[in-house]
Amino acid sequence: MPQKRSLPTVLDLSKSELEALVVGTGEAPSRTGQLWRALYHERRASFDGMTFLSLRCREALKRRYVISPLDPVQCLASKDGSTDKAVFRLPDGELIETVLMRYEPDGHRKVRRTVCVSTQAGCALGCTFCATGQQGFRRQLSVGEIVSQVMFMERLAGTDEEAQMADGTQTRSERQSVTNVVFMGMGEPLANYDNTLSSIRTLTDDQGLHIGARHITVSTVGLVPPILKLADEDQPINLAVSLHAPDNVTRSETMPVNRQYPIERLIEACKTYIAKTRRRIFFEYVLLHGQNDHVHQAEALGRLLTGTLCHVNLIPVNPTVDGPYRRSARECGSAFQAKLREYRVPSTVRTEKGIDINAGCGQLRARAVAVDAEVL
Ligand code: SAH
Ligand code: SF4
Repeated sequence: MPQKRSLPTVLDLSKSELEALVVGTGEAPSRTGQLWRALYHERRASFDGMTFLSLRCREALKRRYVISPLDPVQCLASKDGSTDKAVFRLPDGELIETVLMRYEPDGHRKVRRTVCVSTQAGCALGCTFCATGQQGFRRQLSVGEIVSQVMFMERLAGTDEEAQMADGTQTRSERQSVTNVVFMGMGEPLANYDNTLSSIRTLTDDQGLHIGARHITVSTVGLVPPILKLADEDQPINLAVSLHAPDNVTRSETMPVNRQYPIERLIEACKTYIAKTRRRIFFEYVLLHGQNDHVHQAEALGRLLTGTLCHVNLIPVNPTVDGPYRRSARECGSAFQAKLREYRVPSTVRTEKGIDINAGCGQLRARAVAVDAEVL
């Protein structure tokens, strides 16, 4: 129904806005908590079954809001079953992508299901190796549009969870659909600061999705003012910073943002962040053949980061269609890592699997895998 699609999502409302709405229909304020739980914890897809609310209240909600603003237009699963990608159409026609990645339990880690979310339709920052950057900026995503991506994937992950419970491969104590969220999909989360932070508050709410802040990672291209602001938020999330080069000349060639916030300012902001939060930063370094993968660049990176509480993720580039970049040879990643070790900078080289869904997804997946693997 076209009129229905253009209604805003109720997930854009804060708890107090939701309360004002509920009270406005004659309900007791205490019903708000129940409504919140029904939306985020029980993940109800329609207002109709919410019989704890009066008919008047349910009708008012239906007239003014939809629950999910996402229209899934494509869902793809990788052959190995580890990854799902969804492409959603938003009410105004914009398209965004979300990825769900499943990790088998290994030695010390339990089963993980990580969702990679988008925060903007397109991106204004124009990194030359990034498919989203080449599209340009379309618009900011709302809080509800960000949170709904996780909720959609919760439902998908919940389906395989039920199967595992039935065949005994998962016990009730391990039962949690989505365990981790990475803000590494389309767009720059810190350029949509308020909505990103509000969505984190909703994701971590213990009456809602209840995902631990320590299991959430925000990736930034390196915007200095919001990094400093984030340092004061008292949110124990993980921060990943896309560095991709150890010097300004190389970095500016692929990341236009470096002209505004050069490496010295960025690293200084990162050090302030670390000092204030006492949390390590993940530096992402996409290996671009012949561009930033020389051993002397590894040495420069080692000098830049030595003594900093951090972890470097070396990520093979996922070449974009018609893009100029090729992957570095496998040995190059190991040589890079060995050099960083000399400077006592911890790092991991990422290899990919299951990128058969298509290039766009492979890209999202590669990014998300790299950082998330280090997060508990
Ligand atoms: N805008 C944010 C978050 C989204 S991009 C940022 O730039 O950090 C998430 C990560 O994917 C970034 O580290 C980005 O540099 C990386 N990335 C972009 N294009 C890529 C590609 N083609 N191959 C591998 N990683 C890529
Ligand atoms: Fe934007 Fe991040 Fe892509 Fe750069 S890498 S264009 S900041 S989404």
